[in-house]
Amino acid sequence: MRANRCVDTAPERALRAALHARGRRYRVNHRMVIAGVAVRPDIVFTRQRLAVFVDGCFWHGCPSHMSWPKSNRDFWKAKIDKNRERDREQDRLLRTAGWTVIRVWEHEDVENALARIQNVLDGLD
Ligand SMILES: [Zn+2]
Repeated sequence: MRANRCVDTAPERALRAALHARGRRYRVNHRMVIAGVAVRPDIVFTRQRLAVFVDGCFWHGCPSHMSWPKSNRDFWKAKIDKNRERDREQDRLLRTAGWTVIRVWEHEDVENALARIQNVLDGLD
């Protein structure tokens, strides 16, 4: 079982360190309220209005790594489905409010994620 999604995960720390090393400044767990809904992306670039989420493979139902627990399958299925629904709703709210949203899987190569973020930032700077 993965650690709770609220804790600072290793992939997230690696990504933040890489961004920091490139001189990027961002906010961590910056709470925003959009259309009355609280949204807390993992990494936020306020000026460029870019929100980055680092999604855990288990909690967000990664198609490549999802392995369902053997017991309480229905419970977990419902829970993960709900998380995914919430992810999509948050993306929708942010985009409607003029934000760009990037979702990074925790399994994703840091350099790869970094390149995706840099690309968007370069276009928004
Ligand atoms: Zn994965």
